[in-house]
Amino acid sequence: MNTDIPYTDEERESLRNCRLCPRQCGADRTEGKTGFCNCTDEIGVSIVCNHKGEEPVIGREKGICNVFFIHCNLQCIYCQNRQISRNGSRPDLPYGSFDRLIARIKEVLSESENVLGFVSPTHHLPLMKAVIRTLNSEGLHPRIVYNTNAYDNVEELKKLEGMVDIYLPDLKYMDRDLARRLSMAEDYPQRALEAIGEMYRQKGSSLLTDADDVLESGLIVRHLVLPDCLDNTARVLEAISGISPNIAVSLMSQYAPPEPMPFDFLNKRLSESQYEMARERFFESGLHKGWMQELSSQENLVPDFDKGTWSHSK
Ligand code: SF4
Repeated sequence: MNTDIPYTDEERESLRNCRLCPRQCGADRTEGKTGFCNCTDEIGVSIVCNHKGEEPVIGREKGICNVFFIHCNLQCIYCQNRQISRNGSRPDLPYGSFDRLIARIKEVLSESENVLGFVSPTHHLPLMKAVIRTLNSEGLHPRIVYNTNAYDNVEELKKLEGMVDIYLPDLKYMDRDLARRLSMAEDYPQRALEAIGEMYRQKGSSLLTDADDVLESGLIVRHLVLPDCLDNTARVLEAISGISPNIAVSLMSQYAPPEPMPFDFLNKRLSESQYEMARERFFESGLHKGWMQELSSQENLVPDFDKGTWSHSK
């Protein structure tokens, strides 16, 4: 059992019979047991860094302080953060104690906008909450970004109301078969849609910004357009619009095969014509607010955690 991290009793209990995400493993992570995400109750943080690759309204020129956790509860085969997200790998854990983790976060925050992002936090929710509580107790109140694959439990999201300022979920699939083949999660469409529905309940569709045009509060849904998957993209955009056509959407074109893929359609980049079709689907669905990427983003937005070019994108 990790006694270094100031978990509340409820948080420790949630790790004792882990059902933090829809996988519902029931693993006792406090006793070193692991479920699908292969994480115990240790300080599962891979990197804390200044990050300038989010949507402009989130970080502006100074960027934000992002906390990248190890492993992931989804395991998309094309993951662009695979150096730290693969559950079978063992990335370095550079912050040996909770105090060192907090010190590093404070150091990076001092060089960034006063915004703290947690990347793929679902399976490390108790640690995320302990970090926020500790910073608050020291008088630090950065804006909190919850940057998730959206394979989240609604009950866990309800507990974040008032704690998270900006929800930044993906909506990857509305096609169950695609979700099963690419992310081992056939129920992803239903679970993710419920999760985003809860985020919308908390934040609505308004993006509230401060005097410097930095986002203070809101919901932005991201969708990565995959090659030859335009039907899925159309269904995703319609599903978001079904919650509210006023939700801001970030339509991403940056897909690039990170390594040889087991499916031909993933062994190429997105073409200009397919991205143009995705843009048309965006407007046809009734959506009208958000961001679209240049196709050049395929070159400059793919992070490399080994070379340290992780400051460019999720
Ligand atoms: S967080 Fe990990 S151990 Fe817990 S239910 Fe999800 S995959 Fe399983």
